[in-house]
Amino acid sequence: MTDAIRTDAVATMGESKIAFDFHSHHRRCGHAQGEIPDYVEAAIASGMTIFGVSDHGPAYWLPGDHAQPGTQMAISEMGAYVAEALELKARYAGRIEVRVGIEADWIEGRAEDLKRWLNDYPIDYALGSVHYALGTNIFNQARWQREEPEAVFRAYYASVVRAARSGLFDILSHLTAVESYSPPLRPELAAELYPEVADAAAESGAAVEINTSGYRKMGGDEPFPNRTMLRLLIERGVPLTFGADSHRPQEVGFAANRVVALLQELGVDTQNAQFFRTKRGSTLSVFPTR
Ligand SMILES: [Zn+2]
Ligand SMILES: [Zn+2]
Repeated sequence: MTDAIRTDAVATMGESKIAFDFHSHHRRCGHAQGEIPDYVEAAIASGMTIFGVSDHGPAYWLPGDHAQPGTQMAISEMGAYVAEALELKARYAGRIEVRVGIEADWIEGRAEDLKRWLNDYPIDYALGSVHYALGTNIFNQARWQREEPEAVFRAYYASVVRAARSGLFDILSHLTAVESYSPPLRPELAAELYPEVADAAAESGAAVEINTSGYRKMGGDEPFPNRTMLRLLIERGVPLTFGADSHRPQEVGFAANRVVALLQELGVDTQNAQFFRTKRGSTLSVFPTR
């Protein structure tokens, strides 16, 4: 067990609910609906005790203030975003604990820029996301018509390993998301690539989220990461957290009951979530796996 886990438990709600969700968006990223309070209110309505605001941070690796308006907020918007989230944290205190996060892109060769940029803001946690492999967005469905899948898988998982090893993140987001629209990753290739990802996650001091956008994107029975990866993470004692990756307020807590069932299937105790200390001095909630 990582020493970031404190022993005082935070309650989960009954058998089929999770009282926290650390991955949410709102209109600033340009492709989500609603304002932050809409998401916080949805979290309260569903009985959550801790909720993380984590919109897409800016495209710090591209020139200009707002290089990708439909994908992420402007660089100049970050200050207002963090200020609003901090204000909501204070306003909602006593009703729900708001955590101020950011979903930060891992970009090869830009770790120092990312580190400098993250340190500029008083956030509680950073989600680390690999959204690009070989320069193309992993959710771009057309790529699979023209690219060799194995090369994409290798590049993506190598990036995930480097993102984990960077030590910059508190939560590693949607691992295996490259497989959203891809041809199936052959089991032999998964057996080659996945263990290094799980090792890097275990050494990173970060938690791994179970991201239920996997159910929405893939329409099947696997979240991100999939069961195969989850088993490797659990074997290594990686703490697991939950994120619905909501882009609409009604998606807050999406499929939490399925995650509870999945974790129980995989032998994880879902009744005793615990606090997890972030590298930024705050706390999140996780399910310990050891
Ligand atoms: Zn993402
Ligand atoms: Zn997201």
